[in-house]
Amino acid sequence: MSVEQHQHPSSKQEPCIICVAITGSLSGKHHNPAVPISISEQIESTHEAFEAGASIAHCHVRNNDGTPTSDPDKFAVLQQGLIKHCPGLILQFSTGGRSGAGRERGGMLPLQPDMASLTVGSNNFPTRIYENSPDLVDWLSQEMQRLDIRPEIEIFDLSHIFKAAEMQAAGRFNGPPHVQFVMGVKNAMPLDRAVFEFYLETTRRLLPDATWCGAGIGRDQIVMNEWCVAEGGHARTGLEDNVRMDRTTLAPSNAALVRRLVDICHAHDREAATPAQARALLRLPERKAA
Ligand code: MG
Repeated sequence: MSVEQHQHPSSKQEPCIICVAITGSLSGKHHNPAVPISISEQIESTHEAFEAGASIAHCHVRNNDGTPTSDPDKFAVLQQGLIKHCPGLILQFSTGGRSGAGRERGGMLPLQPDMASLTVGSNNFPTRIYENSPDLVDWLSQEMQRLDIRPEIEIFDLSHIFKAAEMQAAGRFNGPPHVQFVMGVKNAMPLDRAVFEFYLETTRRLLPDATWCGAGIGRDQIVMNEWCVAEGGHARTGLEDNVRMDRTTLAPSNAALVRRLVDICHAHDREAATPAQARALLRLPERKAA
């Protein structure tokens, strides 16, 4: 079925773009042995999640000892494997702050993934400052524009929506903005229903063309999934954000978390978007030749 046939004035019946955050910077085998660390584990885990219904893979890479890195060579190998094994899957590379300092965080952008994460302001993380200076935000966004990469704008705080709107008005993004509300990171914005609704209202007011999704951390993941699907948005899951099915059960795989989110979509009379539908909804071009 085409995306057009799915579209509805309320948007609530639109297919849901499922983003799977497969690895992140912090989750390790000691948290859950299913967390993929090596590139081959990442490719296998992503492929399974893709077959389960994910249409975006949010990617980080690790050193052999499990520590985070932004090594462009590792990203290149991951990218080649995912293009080969997951045709059409939207690849989103993280420029997050745990895997490098300053401009190192954007060192893989010349690989021209479909998307890259872009945080437009600073906030606290559990044990440190998540530092995104205005200079660094400008540089990362310029690189993404130059290389024709669509940013996913990470919203850790209300001010980040205002910054995104300012950047959008200044023509700093290619294509319509795609924002992600992140809730439940310790020392940043907790999961809070009233704030979530205000984020939505503010995004619709300041960024009327934006598509949006949400990520909840740990036990907040499933709550955020429910809220986003019910409100007609898109949703993120995966072992980066949460390693459990519930309090007592570890998630057996990224795919299991994707399947749980697909079930939530079905309960709300929505389908998981195919990669082609996701590209149409995001107005992303077909993948450039790698
Ligand atoms: Mg990440």
